[in-house]
Amino acid sequence: MTAILGAGIAGLSAAYYALQNPKVGPLVLLEASNRVGGWIRSIKQADGTVFEKGPRVMRILYTSDSALNSLSLIEELGLSSKFIPIKMSHPSVQNRYIYADNAIHLVPSSLKGLLTKNSLLNRPLSSLIVNDFKAERVSKDDESIHSFIERRFGKDVAEKLAAPVLCGISGGDVHELSAKSFMPKIFKVEQEHGSVFLGLVKQKYSDYKKRKAEAKHVQNSRKTYGNIIERSKREGWCRWGLEGGLEQLPQALAENISKRGVNMKLEHNCEKMVFNKDSVELTVNGKVEKYSRVISSLPARNLGDLVKEQHPELSKELHSIPTVTIAVVNLQYPTNVLPLNGFGVLVAPKEKIPILGVIFDSCVFPQNSNMTVLTVMMGGAWFEKYFGQCSSDEQLKTVAIKYLNEILRINDDPKAYNVSILKNCIPQYVVGHEQRLKCIHDYISTHKIPLGLCGSSYHGIAVSDVILSAKEAISNID
Ligand SMILES: Cc1cc2nc3c(=O)[nH]c(=O)nc-3n(C[C@H](O)[C@H](O)[C@H](O)COP(=O)(O)OP(=O)(O)OC[C@H]3O[C@@H](n4cnc5c(N)ncnc54)[C@H](O)[C@@H]3O)c2cc1C
Repeated sequence: MTAILGAGIAGLSAAYYALQNPKVGPLVLLEASNRVGGWIRSIKQADGTVFEKGPRVMRILYTSDSALNSLSLIEELGLSSKFIPIKMSHPSVQNRYIYADNAIHLVPSSLKGLLTKNSLLNRPLSSLIVNDFKAERVSKDDESIHSFIERRFGKDVAEKLAAPVLCGISGGDVHELSAKSFMPKIFKVEQEHGSVFLGLVKQKYSDYKKRKAEAKHVQNSRKTYGNIIERSKREGWCRWGLEGGLEQLPQALAENISKRGVNMKLEHNCEKMVFNKDSVELTVNGKVEKYSRVISSLPARNLGDLVKEQHPELSKELHSIPTVTIAVVNLQYPTNVLPLNGFGVLVAPKEKIPILGVIFDSCVFPQNSNMTVLTVMMGGAWFEKYFGQCSSDEQLKTVAIKYLNEILRINDDPKAYNVSILKNCIPQYVVGHEQRLKCIHDYISTHKIPLGLCGSSYHGIAVSDVILSAKEAISNID
């Protein structure tokens, strides 16, 4: 019997793929809370409006296995009718804004925009190529994103472009996040060729054969993955969401695996894990249960707590993957209060305000012609600094509204709102993350521990990465 820990998207996906692997055997899925989905949570208001607490949009990249795999999962689960595709030309793809130097700037996305001077950097983005060619070659095993971007492209790019974008993705501080883990391809070509652009160009030519094989792979994967990818390519989709909210995805997975015999136990908190020669003993709600193998989709620090007594060294490594806390304030206005149309505004941390960004939900997925739905994300790496240990919902809402006024000049009162503090919600891949993962995986294999790992703590925080991590954890079972 295999135990899967956690019914977030990773644990549910692990159970789904485990059902396709005859080596895994009967499955029990243990979830501490009373619901499935983890950080994926869509709250429906009385009038049908959806407030997303966590993710809402998934990216489509035709060269990314994880993106294609998620698309295919949607089809396999019969969710195609709820699928909302977003094309490249959509304003939420074209228009991304950054708040820096007390003003909103449009991030250039067209070729013309790249060649002309923009207000954010006060120079064309194409000038980054010159910076890159002039930059000194430095050999590094890893470094912070800030250090990498500053030495290659300039301090302005690190502070006004990279920092807000990374805040939007991870809520993290570019002075701490790892360039090697967050931008592995770019970091690698720079280390190999001494220049990002030169490296990318050289790679393009020298990898001609590989690219051909990759193109073939994409064609093959289209065949393997089915109709949805064919359609997506034909119609030029580059993002997607689900009608009714992204929580439809974990709910569909849960329904699918339950019907196929997975014993899903909600409100079952795993408190301790002890590995014996031929079994694993889990203490669940105070009682000891025996399994032959465990797949953990828990955040690394939670897993670290479980193995602390028996494997303190492993526990220490797991605990060294930090997390950040984000306050999410969803707001609904009866009329269109937005002065801009786009995905949203990301805030440069150098502005020293508590806001990470504002997502224009009703531009991305219009729910009602005139209504505005916004999500304000706050805190992240600076949560303690701005909000301390305890902030009430009312205080957080007041802060969100104050900055909506300051940044976007929105003075109206919201018709409805919802405030949540997502404690330790996003793992931070800080400098040395890859080395840390190696230590964790080496420890598990050296000690022959029947423990598989998946979830957002390790190899990517995007929903698609997390789903693929579960698929890989299952395929590694022999
Ligand atoms: C605000 C926010 C916005 C985001 N936006 C996007 C986005 O737009 N696009 C995107 O791709 N990604 C986004 N992400 C990232 C993505 O949502 C997460 O990385 C992903 O949902 C994590 O899934 P998981 O299954 O690894 O972990 P979790 O969702 O944390 O699931 C872990 C589960 O384990 C359970 N658990 C914990 N301890 C125990 C225990 N001891 N015993 C039993 N169960 C336990 C928890 O209750 C939880 O249900 C966002 C994340 C956040 C927080």
